[in-house]
Amino acid sequence: MAEKIIGIDLGTTNSEVAVVENGRVTVIDVTPGHPILPSFVGLADDGSILVGEPAKNQYVLYPERTIKSIKRRMGSADQVEMGDTAYTPQEISAIILRRLKAIAEAHLGEAVHKAVITVPAYFSDAQRQATREAGEIAGLEVARIINEPTAAALSYEANHQGHKKVLVYDLGGGTFDVSVVGIEDNVVEVLASHGNNQLGGDDFDAKIVEHLVAHLQQQGADPTPSRKAMARITRAAEIAKIALSDQPYCRIEEEYLLEKDGTPVNLTLELARDDYEAMIAGYIDETLEAVHIALKGAHLTVSDLDEVLLVGGATRTPIITQRLEADLGLTVRAEVNPDLCVATGAAIQAGMLAGEAVSAVLVDITPYTFGTSALSELNGMPYPFTYVPIIHKNTPIPVTKSEVFYTMRDHQEAVKVDVYQGEDPDALNNITLGEFMVENLSRAPANNPIIIQFALDLNGIMQVTAREKNTGLEKSIRIDNVLTRFQEGALETARARVNALFADEMMNAATSTEAGSGVTDQQLRVQAQALVEKAERLLDNASEDDREEMINLIETIKDALSSGNYDALAEPVAELSDILFYLES
Ligand code: AMP
Repeated sequence: MAEKIIGIDLGTTNSEVAVVENGRVTVIDVTPGHPILPSFVGLADDGSILVGEPAKNQYVLYPERTIKSIKRRMGSADQVEMGDTAYTPQEISAIILRRLKAIAEAHLGEAVHKAVITVPAYFSDAQRQATREAGEIAGLEVARIINEPTAAALSYEANHQGHKKVLVYDLGGGTFDVSVVGIEDNVVEVLASHGNNQLGGDDFDAKIVEHLVAHLQQQGADPTPSRKAMARITRAAEIAKIALSDQPYCRIEEEYLLEKDGTPVNLTLELARDDYEAMIAGYIDETLEAVHIALKGAHLTVSDLDEVLLVGGATRTPIITQRLEADLGLTVRAEVNPDLCVATGAAIQAGMLAGEAVSAVLVDITPYTFGTSALSELNGMPYPFTYVPIIHKNTPIPVTKSEVFYTMRDHQEAVKVDVYQGEDPDALNNITLGEFMVENLSRAPANNPIIIQFALDLNGIMQVTAREKNTGLEKSIRIDNVLTRFQEGALETARARVNALFADEMMNAATSTEAGSGVTDQQLRVQAQALVEKAERLLDNASEDDREEMINLIETIKDALSSGNYDALAEPVAELSDILFYLES
């Protein structure tokens, strides 16, 4: 049997090792269940060497004998001090590589001598040479150095035939790179690359830290002189950031953080995703500018791109996908774990060099989108069954995601939660999986937040929970077999069949509404009812003239609704909608 070659992602913050076994890639665990080795090296109290998590843990307390982010110095003549000794960047990287080699050997039960190691596309010859030397110091022959975006593309496109242009957006802990990659019958080439090697998820943490420090200072407690308090705040900030990728709010609680005048100071604060997103908006803008610079560098435009792939842990921040999709008009792919896809691609390249057959990476993803409905806009008008996706298709499972919704009326006592599967912006065109009521809400004014959570496991069991944020009142349902309900393609067939049944009705509706917008009678009726309800609530805010006009329009609409004369609805609905628009803006 050919000698194994391992694939290594030697990262600034984290490193991983992977290998092809029986045609499939395994990213090897460093500790049970954890394949990520923090790229930290340190000396313990007794002088022994620490690599990974233990070194990271002592960083705040003993920075003088702990080294992080050595990758930033590769290729330079710098030396770094650890304890009493100076080391070259190659030597420190070699310590990390040796640990990864040992992890692979323990997993495989055999000695390993060769590796493929990834480097950023922008690495110079000197930086690549230093990486090779680090490998050799660690006892590894570097079979090939490959670019990180190339590896990421390989993890998605192993065995790809034909050609494709792919944008790889890589936002890690401390670096950001975007590359345009061309794939031609399995040959992957970086066409252009741009980025900022001082921007990453750590900067997002720093924004939250600033916010927390300001909050404490407002209370008259300043944590900045205390290294220990700042370390706790920094950890809490990262945990909050990660939580906000899946939920609309999070609570930050650090007890006994400081002492002020002999009394303990606790940190307790709620952070909303919207506020957090505003804090990091400038960074996201910068990354989008870099995307366009890279495209320009490759002499391509957005329309030449076939796909966008996400790499790096920080890309789990949902606003990144939203902004990229809005800016590029393409679906963003993140099925292969963004922390592991570079190591996965390195292992695929290693497997190919070793002459092994490598099959495509298999990941468990949901092939369907799941969501609920809410009053929002559809075709420019308020519509109570606007679809709000919560778990998007191609998301790796298991997954738990939640979003916030608001009650519409003062003292609203109940909300109905509908659960759908599908993609249509009109929830009524999707498949209803279930529904439930949450009753006995507190007597709160309108806009009482209700958090709706969807949790989907590997067995296709979906748990949907609605919680009144202010009281914790909760209700949930469980729906089985949501992943097997419809086979691929069956959904389309079913929808086409159902649409055909309603073809006549849709034709009528299309001709009876303005410019044939495709709004059905049923949609127009619910839109009109919702508009009337809203107008009635806003009557008190309107000027005398507007009020009179609104009352007339409300009556016209109600008449048309009760007589079923839908042809007469479009005009007053549009007029009333205009008035409400100006009233609210
Ligand atoms: P990497 O260097 O690719 O391992 O990425 C590490 C960065 O990703 C760190 O800043 C992490 O805090 C961040 N990260 C990891 N998971 C998430 C998440 N679910 N949401 C947002 N950021 C994350």
